[in-house]
Amino acid sequence: MRAEFDLIAKYFTKPTPNADLGVGDDAALIRVSPGYQLAISTDMSVVGTHFYADCPPEDIGWKSLAVNVSDLAAMGAQPKWMTLAIALPEQNHQWLSAFADGFFACAEKFGIDLIGGDTTRGPLNIAVQIMGEVPVGKSLLRSGAQVGDDIWVSGFIGSAALGLAHLQEKTMLPKDVASVCMWALHHPQPRLALGLALLGVANSCIDISDGLLGDLGHMLRASGVGAALDLEAIPCLPFVSAALDLPIMQQAVLAGGDDYELCFTAPSSQYMQIQGISKSLGLPLTRIGHITDGADLHVHYQNNLLSLAAEGYDHFG
Ligand code: ADP
Ligand code: MG
Repeated sequence: MRAEFDLIAKYFTKPTPNADLGVGDDAALIRVSPGYQLAISTDMSVVGTHFYADCPPEDIGWKSLAVNVSDLAAMGAQPKWMTLAIALPEQNHQWLSAFADGFFACAEKFGIDLIGGDTTRGPLNIAVQIMGEVPVGKSLLRSGAQVGDDIWVSGFIGSAALGLAHLQEKTMLPKDVASVCMWALHHPQPRLALGLALLGVANSCIDISDGLLGDLGHMLRASGVGAALDLEAIPCLPFVSAALDLPIMQQAVLAGGDDYELCFTAPSSQYMQIQGISKSLGLPLTRIGHITDGADLHVHYQNNLLSLAAEGYDHFG
């Protein structure tokens, strides 16, 4: 489509202070600061899989970038550049304008330049590649967890999954709870400041995109360790903790996706340091268990061991 160029100029061309050359040539040009590594990640958002076609376009714009920022946050990397490959079923200016508003609200919040991409016709599909910088050898890896480490999470867990369950009419939430959960589902807040603050403090880190147990499981396998968690220690909305004996609540907290909080491990000697980070960021950080030797992931609830059918969301499962 020729109109593709007008569309790119109108919606996807913004100043790029972090780049030597942004949108408009055959490739963009960037420079990595001396002493830093390039951290690169891609996440695709597909209609019907990651969002419904009638989801507000602003929310799709925000979230399609936010999930990528979350990946760099989990590495302790500062995002600086991104590309956007987008397939659109039609040229709907109202939709595009709202999408761009949400997308660039997130880009501006985290100081990320859109430096290129591709625009094509097709079923709605949004692929962002994000690039950022981290001091050489310092990034937070999944493989760094050590036996005896405390396991921490940021924010509240399970809200986004309950928002989705509410949307799908699988559960009825009180109005005020529903709106908090729907906001969590559509407006995840990538914990970038936390990821950066954890450099040199945490031994390992992962962002919770597919569910706490599933994502923690990735970390445990990468580190060759196990874990013991206390379900009641996992921070969640008061509405959720009050009903934690219900399977749907346990499912939301342990296996619900889309929270985009960080799960990290650190030696217990960092406890006060982490409390300080929590205070200075105004972000709850909660210790939910510890790393064990072996390979098992145990979750305790009211002094009983839970049997875990709950696994992370698997797109092909
Ligand atoms: P080419 O045909 O050389 O691949 P394109 O026509 O696809 O170039 O793109 C022209 C310019 O617009 C390139 O700089 C490309 O990176 C940029 N671009 C295309 N689509 C997008 C988009 N959705 N967001 C940002 N930049 C884009
Ligand atoms: Mg192209």
